[in-house]
Amino acid sequence: MVQTVVALGGNQGHVAQTFDRALSRMKQHEQVQSVETAALYRSAAMGACAGSEFLNSAWVLETTLEPIRLLDLLQEVENEFGRSRDVRWGPRTLDLDLIFYDHEVVSSPRLIVPHSHCWYRRFVLTPIEDLRPDWLHPELGLTIRDLCKRLSVGSFRLAIGGAGDLAPTLTGVVREFQNVELVYADSPDSIEVSDVSLAVWFGECSGEKLHPLWLKSPTRDALQALRDTLTAACTAVVAIPSP
Ligand code: ATP
Ligand code: MG
Ligand code: MG
Repeated sequence: MVQTVVALGGNQGHVAQTFDRALSRMKQHEQVQSVETAALYRSAAMGACAGSEFLNSAWVLETTLEPIRLLDLLQEVENEFGRSRDVRWGPRTLDLDLIFYDHEVVSSPRLIVPHSHCWYRRFVLTPIEDLRPDWLHPELGLTIRDLCKRLSVGSFRLAIGGAGDLAPTLTGVVREFQNVELVYADSPDSIEVSDVSLAVWFGECSGEKLHPLWLKSPTRDALQALRDTLTAACTAVVAIPSP
């Protein structure tokens, strides 16, 4: 048996009930056991077409399924609960993302573990922090607690690099968010990535490889990408008191 961490999200239908029923469904599989379930949280929707506020939670599961077979099962359960995939980051009944599979690193066309975007998304990290604050991200060498702490420092420090002519427009996007202090980086090593809440590099980076704590963002659709990233990284994720 290995321990795995799954992040849950949804904003259509009776989401809390869907989460409970999806867990029962997962446990019906003879190679899956549930270990713990995080509290429920609500978070702002991320993405231009994402719809209303989301509910989020997390599970720690034990399984003997190989990573890709666990992904098959998670997608089967998403589909059973009415998940449609017509719009990227669109409204959804149920999103089940495999965040960690023990401390393994998996990189295949269908599956990347740890989940590539988990480390700067508060709606993913906060529920996991309930359950496993000391879980180590195997590639970044930081715990869930460390990752949460970076994002929740009193004032959020955002470093932007590689933006070129886009810089003024990106500054406008940053102003949509409260308490974000903006720092421009001339080169990837001109700032210490561990000293800021988040560092985002736009476009190509010539020369040396980017430190993994730089988030690589596209120059095309850069405004929306930055807006989505900031929504995920610095808007409140609020615990819902259990009844
Ligand atoms: P995001 O991945 O940014 O949270 P999403 O959850 O809305 O977006 P999905 O439509 O659920 O994206 O999944 C898109 C694809 O991501 C899936 O077809 C799946 O093969 C792939 N994928 C890669 N790594 C993972 C992972 N760790 N967990 C879940 N899906 C993954
Ligand atoms: Mg997702
Ligand atoms: Mg998903």
